[in-house]
Amino acid sequence: MTGRTHIVGAGIAGISAALAASAEGGEAILYEAAPQAGGRCRTIRPADGFAHDNGTHVLFTANRRALALLKTVGARERWIEPEPKGLPIYDRQAASLRRVGLSPWSWLLSSRRPKGLGLSDLARMLRLVFSSRDCPVAALIGQRPIMESLIGPLTVAVLNTPVSQASSKRLAYALRRLLRPGAGRLLVARNGLSEDLVEPALATLRQRGVSVLSGQRLRAVLTNGERAIGLTLADRTVALGPEDKVVLALPPWEVERLLPALVVPRLFEPILNVHYRVPGLDRLRFIGFTGTLAQWALIRAGHVSVTISAAKAVIDRDPDDLAATIWREIAPALRIVDLDVHPDRQPEARIVKEKRATIRQAAAPLPQPPLQPLADLVLAGDWIGPLPATIESAVTAGEQAVFLLRHGRNAHRPVSPTGIAKTEDAA
Ligand SMILES: Cc1cc2nc3c(=O)[nH]c(=O)nc-3n(C[C@H](O)[C@H](O)[C@H](O)COP(=O)(O)OP(=O)(O)OC[C@H]3O[C@@H](n4cnc5c(N)ncnc54)[C@H](O)[C@@H]3O)c2cc1C
Repeated sequence: MTGRTHIVGAGIAGISAALAASAEGGEAILYEAAPQAGGRCRTIRPADGFAHDNGTHVLFTANRRALALLKTVGARERWIEPEPKGLPIYDRQAASLRRVGLSPWSWLLSSRRPKGLGLSDLARMLRLVFSSRDCPVAALIGQRPIMESLIGPLTVAVLNTPVSQASSKRLAYALRRLLRPGAGRLLVARNGLSEDLVEPALATLRQRGVSVLSGQRLRAVLTNGERAIGLTLADRTVALGPEDKVVLALPPWEVERLLPALVVPRLFEPILNVHYRVPGLDRLRFIGFTGTLAQWALIRAGHVSVTISAAKAVIDRDPDDLAATIWREIAPALRIVDLDVHPDRQPEARIVKEKRATIRQAAAPLPQPPLQPLADLVLAGDWIGPLPATIESAVTAGEQAVFLLRHGRNAHRPVSPTGIAKTEDAA
């Protein structure tokens, strides 16, 4: 690609675009509004030293584009499988932990089967996975025990949308990939999102000569007819040369502010995370929960991080009350995995509320703008295209954006009508 590629937004989509644009020696500049890169996928490092991710992020071995990015930046080995023998699920009613396999192949062993799974559930799940119809996941599966033990938690984790609304079609994209043998292994960052993903990626970009400029909010895109001709940033205006290109790797509300003619998704779902400061264990553990507010917990060396996705019902509750309630629920499970804690002695807690964690992925067509709204400007971001809004879709969208700039809209790459590569890689 001749000319410079200006990438705005240093979240995962922008980082992915910058890696793609610089892969063959192309000149790229990455602008970010915040002081640090990573966007919704970052480590928070307060002055008191209690560092934790904004929220636990998991990848599956099915996420091939995300894993390829990790490999490119030398960080693949930093993402490890905390529970290779199956995910321990704590059932509050039974007050016990039971391992469940995430891959359907593992269900051949009765000890790894989700609670309540019957033959008729398998038929329903096959219908969910292979149907082209889009309807709420709850409507397709019905009120079955498997809803509580597997489908509900999985839907909320992947789509961050309540099962009563969540799109069966988007979930099916993820499930089809998890069906492949070896694709359902759950991975987490060994030390944290910044150390194990964002920082290695930035180091690779800098090695390639890419400038990464933080504190540079894009205020306006200057246009002339069908072209972008300038970018007004926090402290400078960048004039675009005739060969220059722009990738806007931004959330939908920012794209709408900058290019008001575009129609973008406007409904979002929150995720709430509570981080408890406890000594932890000498190896990572990951626990799922049923019958509790908490949906899963990651146990690290210095803290336990609890996630509640599709958290609308709890996001505005009193934080102290929430931290206390969740602690009482999860402490018995932590004790089972040998953590020296007590339900009545809640440790220091930090709550992170991501009110617009992802778009709402309901069973209805989502507004999608053209990927290339101007001749020299393309869009990227986890919300673009039909895949679940995750790291995988952000990486895919970044790569796709650069591909479009290089080869144009009609290039011969397997691109679906919505513009996302049909590589079947995302979960
Ligand atoms: C709590 C939480 C848990 C999650 N868990 C998972 C998980 O387990 N697995 C998974 O795969 N995904 C998970 N996700 C989703 C994942 O984080 C996102 O899909 C991904 O990070 C989106 O990346 P992005 O680059 O598209 O967007 P963003 O991360 O939003 O990046 C956009 C960037 O643009 C910057 N920006 C905004 N406006 C401007 C401007 N005007 N000028 C310059 N810069 C600007 C922002 O500061 C930001 O850095 C989770 C998200 C959250 C919030």
